[in-house]
Amino acid sequence: MSANETTDWKPADWGEIFASHSPSWLAEHFRNYADTIESPIRLSVVVGCCPRWHVPGVMLLGDAAHPMSPVRAQGINVALRDAIVAANHLVPLLQTSAEHQEIDRALTQIQAEREPEIIRAQKLQLAEAAQGELLRKNSLLRSLLTKLPLLLRKQIQRSWLKRQYEMRQGITKVQLTV
Ligand SMILES: Cc1cc2nc3c(=O)[nH]c(=O)nc-3n(C[C@H](O)[C@H](O)[C@H](O)COP(=O)(O)OP(=O)(O)OC[C@H]3O[C@@H](n4cnc5c(N)ncnc54)[C@H](O)[C@@H]3O)c2cc1C
Repeated sequence: MSANETTDWKPADWGEIFASHSPSWLAEHFRNYADTIESPIRLSVVVGCCPRWHVPGVMLLGDAAHPMSPVRAQGINVALRDAIVAANHLVPLLQTSAEHQEIDRALTQIQAEREPEIIRAQKLQLAEAAQGELLRKNSLLRSLLTKLPLLLRKQIQRSWLKRQYEMRQGITKVQLTV
């Protein structure tokens, strides 16, 4: 069940609410364990990107460097991609007991390699959220869109899918090489 604005956050029988949205096998489970289900908690969303992800000897990756918007759930993807790029740069150096300066240079390279994709993904997430909000608030626009000629609707869909692809697959090729 999505936590939208119509959700009533007052105490409620959440076991029964979840059960009413579930297939029978899961509904039974929710009903049996209703007294152990806690009320939902609202989590605040923080989106951002550290200007610098590293100091000598320390590097931030994933959420620590660039907490993502929940739009299209990309946090784990990008954190894993950061880790792969970090491994590609650092494993060879650590295997040859490289100098500290060399490792610190690698940290700069890791940020330089990952940052453009993060900035692009966050921009796409922001645009998608704004578009969703516009459509949610504007019923006239929603109904106009459904009345557009098929060809135009297909074009809009193609452009949306292209942006989706970039957000979900990234803008750079990331492959573990070590
Ligand atoms: C409710 C919720 C739902 C989400 N759903 C999705 C989703 O569907 N898809 C998606 O892609 N992303 C989702 N995310 C985001 C995703 O979980 C994060 O983007 C992702 O886990 C970031 O990975 P990370 O390795 O950077 O950080 P984390 O996964 O947070 O890992 C950091 C680790 O460091 C540990 N740690 C913290 N402090 C210390 C310390 N002092 N010493 C030792 N260890 C420490 C923590 O316990 C944790 O295990 C969701 C996030 C939340 C909160």
